[in-house]
Amino acid sequence: MDETQAKQKIDQLTELVLYHSRRYYDQDAPEIEDYEYDRLLHQLMDLEEAYPQFAHPDSPTKRVVGQVKNTFAPVEHKVQMGSLQDVFSPEEVFAFHERVQEQVADPVYVVEPKIDGLSVSLEYRDGVFVRGSTRGDGFIGEDVTLNLKTVKSIPQKLKDPIAFLEVRGEVYMSEQNFQKLTAEQEIREEKLFKNPRNAAAGSLRQKDPSVAARRNLDIFVFNVQQIEGKSLSGHKESLDFLKDQGFPVSPSYRQVSSAEEMMAEIRRIGENRETYAFGIDGAVVKVDDFSQREQLGSTAKYPKWAIAYKYPPEEKPTVLLDIQINVGRTGVLTPTAVFEPISLAGTTVSRAVLHNQAFIDEKQIAVGDTILVRKAGDIIPEVIGVVSHAPGKKVYQIPDVCPACGSPVFFEGDQAAKRCQNSDCPAQLLRNLIHFASRDAMDIEGMGPSIVENLVAAGLVKSPADLYDITLEEVSALDRLAQKSGANLLASIEKSKQNDLSRLLFALGIRGIGQKAAKLLAARFPDIEMLFSASEEEISQIDGFGGIMAQAVVEYFSLDTTRHLVERLKKAGVNTCSQALPTGDRLAGFTFVLTGTLPNLTRSEAGGLIEKQGGKVSSSVSRKTSYVVAGEEAGSKLAKAQNLGIPILDEAALLALLDGENPAAHAEKESSF
Ligand code: NAD
Repeated sequence: MDETQAKQKIDQLTELVLYHSRRYYDQDAPEIEDYEYDRLLHQLMDLEEAYPQFAHPDSPTKRVVGQVKNTFAPVEHKVQMGSLQDVFSPEEVFAFHERVQEQVADPVYVVEPKIDGLSVSLEYRDGVFVRGSTRGDGFIGEDVTLNLKTVKSIPQKLKDPIAFLEVRGEVYMSEQNFQKLTAEQEIREEKLFKNPRNAAAGSLRQKDPSVAARRNLDIFVFNVQQIEGKSLSGHKESLDFLKDQGFPVSPSYRQVSSAEEMMAEIRRIGENRETYAFGIDGAVVKVDDFSQREQLGSTAKYPKWAIAYKYPPEEKPTVLLDIQINVGRTGVLTPTAVFEPISLAGTTVSRAVLHNQAFIDEKQIAVGDTILVRKAGDIIPEVIGVVSHAPGKKVYQIPDVCPACGSPVFFEGDQAAKRCQNSDCPAQLLRNLIHFASRDAMDIEGMGPSIVENLVAAGLVKSPADLYDITLEEVSALDRLAQKSGANLLASIEKSKQNDLSRLLFALGIRGIGQKAAKLLAARFPDIEMLFSASEEEISQIDGFGGIMAQAVVEYFSLDTTRHLVERLKKAGVNTCSQALPTGDRLAGFTFVLTGTLPNLTRSEAGGLIEKQGGKVSSSVSRKTSYVVAGEEAGSKLAKAQNLGIPILDEAALLALLDGENPAAHAEKESSF
């Protein structure tokens, strides 16, 4: 490689690594496996070492990449939250031991599992939990105290009233909770979290703490960052101390004193992966003695006294026994590989999704083939390819008829998926009903998947409208449902009749209409009747609506079956109007952007008041914005409004407008821009 090529390669790799870091840290949506990412990073490191003149000053090899969202207040980390140097082979472990030995005498190490979650700092004053934050870029993190307060394993109060203590730990989602969450996401046909780490990170960085609370996160604490009023001299001692104070600490931590012992413990942890209820992506080796750590020092990115041994993703061959077809809520047929169970990265797996016909064709998969399955950490298992083809078997074809109802299935447009279009298909009905009753939709408590299955199997429910006709006798006759829970279920069904139209619209499962779109739809068309005559053009004018969504809504409301369903729901007493119906039109035609912290109202309360008066609330400032309502710490939106000469209001001025002051006194109507 000559210098020009080296420079080019360094530029390319730097950009690529930064791209994947943003997908991982800022969007919680990685596109490649961690192992592949680590390999890219190491390739970049090697090149930078050979050609230091081309290394970028802010290269991801030299700093912790991570961003702070402005959703949360920033928290400065007095003690840096660094990363760890990765190693992948026993040779590198031996080399680490040698480097350490060159500087300190008789080092003792602690080896512990590396939990695959996200790093947080927890601060305690006088033994009481006061603040928690994410790692961010290692120096500044995000204040996620409210979300962390929902993590039950974080002690709110310590055994002793220690004056000040900051600890570092790893928040994670257990395998079991991850399975539960993705099963729910599947029913709602939402984008699935790729792995428990992303699910944990996504949950902890939610604005609404009740979301984090529902996700049942957990923590392991593995370090004392700062402490006042006590001195600790080593790692094992500090973990024992933290345990005594009530923290869940690293699930195993063993002292070793030679490279051979280190490797043996690393192997033991790797082999025991199956016994942990959480994901691990390696083992961490740390020098135990704090004074030796100080001697060894740190780079800007990681300490020189520790390494993280990363286990490679596990791949195993197995025999493909069957391909099963699952019919989704919108009728999409999804093939799933069912194979001889194998143990991979800590869990037994026997199924993996095969996506669509194109995926099967590309890999030439046939039932009976020996396939290669991979699972890295807690990534959902995937079929990498075929190791050997079963003789005489043809590549699998997704059937032309729906396995649940026998209707013909079609490829839609140029979409890869085959879809069953029979709206009475029992497989779709079941999923539709589960979705209809789910928490974010009609929120019918107690109406979980198994009850819905029972109701459908008993022939009691063939449409969501039938739910409102069920009697106590019918429910009580169902298996496993006692009289009391039957009555409770009926009460929840009754209660759901009062839901706002936005919930009903989401519950109906219109293709492409998620929770947010349903809210926007209900705000613009506050009576379901309006949707029967709304045009594609009118709908696509809603902010955030694309043509395909508008088309799906029009198609849905043009069906006779929809008319029939809505009539029945209305007759049963289900509310089909939006409670967010404007109660006045004082602000009609004006668009507001809210920014910063208002003295009394939350931004969503202020937005609600504006909408009640027919005003529109938008999230970004443009020439079309009539007013910007700014509170304390308003940032770039305020600056942009000032630049564009858009009138700025404080909370009092907004209240005056809502109270009847003429809005035109401040701004022109949207149409005149
Ligand atoms: P790291 O995950 O390799 O190591 C540091 C982290 O380990 C610390 O933040 C700490 O919180 C955690 N940890 C868990 N258990 C620990 C223990 N017992 N002791 C000490 N620390 C422990 O480094 P990183 O900089 O946080 O992140 C890099 C990780 O993120 C890598 O695994 C990398 O593969 C992954 N990543 C993946 C992508 C992708 O696209 N797939 C992109 C960026 C980063």
